Amino acid sequence: MKFGGTSVEDTCAFQRVVQIVSAHKDMRPVIVVSAMSRFTDALLQSVQMAADGNASAASSWLEDHYERHEDVASSLLGAVEASLFEAALNKARSEIRELCVSIAAHSMPHAALQDSVVSYGEQLSSTLLAAVLRENNLPAHYLDARRLIVTDDEHGRAAPLFAETMRRTRAELEPLIEAGEMPVLGGFIAASRSGATTTLGRGGSDYSAALTGAVLQAREIQIWTDVTGVLTADPRLVESARTIPQLSYREAAELAYFGAKVLHPKTMQPAVEGRIPVRVSNTRQPSEAGTVILTETAVSPSTVKAIAHKTGITIVQITSARMLGAYGFLRAIFEIFDRHRTVVDIVTTSEVSVSLSLDEASALPAIIEELRQLGTVEIEPRRAIICVVGEGLRSTPGIAAHVFSTIRDINVSLISLGASSVNLTFVLDEEQVREAVMRLHAAFFERAADVYVS
Ligand code: ADP
Ligand code: ASP
Ligand code: MG
Repeated sequence: MKFGGTSVEDTCAFQRVVQIVSAHKDMRPVIVVSAMSRFTDALLQSVQMAADGNASAASSWLEDHYERHEDVASSLLGAVEASLFEAALNKARSEIRELCVSIAAHSMPHAALQDSVVSYGEQLSSTLLAAVLRENNLPAHYLDARRLIVTDDEHGRAAPLFAETMRRTRAELEPLIEAGEMPVLGGFIAASRSGATTTLGRGGSDYSAALTGAVLQAREIQIWTDVTGVLTADPRLVESARTIPQLSYREAAELAYFGAKVLHPKTMQPAVEGRIPVRVSNTRQPSEAGTVILTETAVSPSTVKAIAHKTGITIVQITSARMLGAYGFLRAIFEIFDRHRTVVDIVTTSEVSVSLSLDEASALPAIIEELRQLGTVEIEPRRAIICVVGEGLRSTPGIAAHVFSTIRDINVSLISLGASSVNLTFVLDEEQVREAVMRLHAAFFERAADVYVS
């Protein structure tokens, strides 16, 4: 059972978690928890302040957030648990202060120190949640997730090493579960083989929960959040977005990858092999079913299931007459992106040009320099991707026509259909994404004569 940041944002939220965990205690859950909402952002900001040379402002910047933890502790913990938590909080506060001094002094690699600072979000929320659960007579047992999840040393977006993670997680958790205890661990945080603190990328607690569930062969991986499941579109754009009762792993993975923030893009990966259902539920409405994500065979195809979108996309176009009829050209292009560890999402090609979309463009200046050796390079910033998702979409006639006629007056580029059987993806101007998503949602989900949706 994974509880996200808003699910542990304050005292009332912690009380809701207690209720939900109590109701599931016979299922012998393992609890994974995110940092309190907004705390990870604040920790990252304090790292930035320290890097800019202001170490003392960097640590005092976090005081409000320490206070939020203290408020929960003083409302929900008895004297003994409260003083234990107070000690943990004070230790965290002074360790963060020291780390900020090191960051300001540029004495150690920045990315490693940043992960160490950021990890206190989940360290504190999990320590506090374990105490609150124990206070409510649940057999909660706090465990440092950094002892369980082993990763490479790519700080900020570390990749788990599965065999080792499996061995350690099983060795630590199985005896506890057997003994009737309820392990409580922080999501998002892990450690490299050498023991350095790493993190799994923003929103990574979902991934931690899925990894833990998969290695323990859990009956279900539950993601508890602030919306009732995966919705037909981002509710921040489309008010009438509604819960999708069932999705296949592939549909959910595409949606998560192309911007449905409710799930970290890698959440489905560990679940697929063990065919473990992933359930997304609302902590504020725990009795509603939410969404269950299963293998495709268990999901009835009902062509268009949801629309995801992602902004902040950059398009790179490389044009060269040398490409005509030549081989090795695409390889040369992709090697450049590889070397700069930059992920490419959509690729389209013509006789003499290649267009690609990038989500993360920090290495772009260096990439452009190298691409210029191959041809003319053009950059289009501030683009967005829209991804229409549904099993059977590729083999259903008329979907593309319906999509593009709905937004016929909006210019689209880089259309990708057919690479996967479950999605139709295209790029447009960032300013037009809201309008396009709203129109597509209306066309596919809000009209009585919905022809493509069962
Ligand atoms: P948590 O802190 O629980 O991990 P997140 O903020 O990471 O929660 O994810 C939940 C949020 O994802 C929702 O509040 C919603 O605004 C956003 N979201 C974007 N697209 C979707 C979608 N298709 N379905 C549900 N939520 C979505
Ligand atoms: N706390 C981390 C973040 O805000 C991880 C998570 O919430 O899943 O990105
Ligand atoms: Mg999240």
